Amino acid sequence: MMQNKIIIAIDGHSSCGKSTMAKDLAKALNYTYIDTGAMYRAVTLFSLRAGLWKGEVLDTDVLRQQLPSLTISFERMPNGELHTFLNGEDVEKEIRTMAVSEHVSPVSTLGFVREAMVAQQQAMGVKKGIVMDGRDIGTTVFPQAELKIFVTALPEVRAMRRYKELQQKGEESTFETVLSNLTERDRIDSTRAISPLAKADDARVLDNSELTIEEQNQLLLSWAEEVIARQKS
Ligand code: C5P
Repeated sequence: MMQNKIIIAIDGHSSCGKSTMAKDLAKALNYTYIDTGAMYRAVTLFSLRAGLWKGEVLDTDVLRQQLPSLTISFERMPNGELHTFLNGEDVEKEIRTMAVSEHVSPVSTLGFVREAMVAQQQAMGVKKGIVMDGRDIGTTVFPQAELKIFVTALPEVRAMRRYKELQQKGEESTFETVLSNLTERDRIDSTRAISPLAKADDARVLDNSELTIEEQNQLLLSWAEEVIARQKS
């Protein structure tokens, strides 16, 4: 029996471990994983490097002009990790710094940035067989996705996980800074005018405050298998 491939959309609050679960699920299903947050982060990194910020104010005119010449891509490393490239340069590490986290939400409110990213994301999903994580995948990028998941967890739990992760990477930060960054990103992401972070009506909610990664992965895989089984032709 032929199995039809599906699109799996994973949206939710900041620092819920969406990328980890999306990556693991894609691996288990032999699907392609796409981290859309990395794309917004790459645009943000570009804006910082190009000196487009004067304090809290971004020069959107210059960003609008430059955006069409930016190339964002993903490449698999020999160790199996997927890295984000900006104009051919591996920027995987740099896009995860607090400096980028602190500027990414305002960049993501811009209509011209969203239009360009969404168009690229939709093109990546033409053949299906993808797991894509972000904020607007189930609502805007793939409203027709066969499986939609909305992930959340208590802010303090998320901040502690992210804080430990930054510590492991050797980046200096405090628990309070991480907590305020993620609640502020959630606030901007959920209240912006264009495709705000919201649960799609037909999304399944996953609160992972008290789940281990294994429990979460098992639950997700069982949901995916159930939906894929229904697609068999
Ligand atoms: O997923 P991640 O935390 O890396 O995303 C960084 C930021 O990118 C989010 O806080 C949000 O502002 C933006 N984003 C978005 N739409 C997406 C994915 C990310 O606006 N689909």
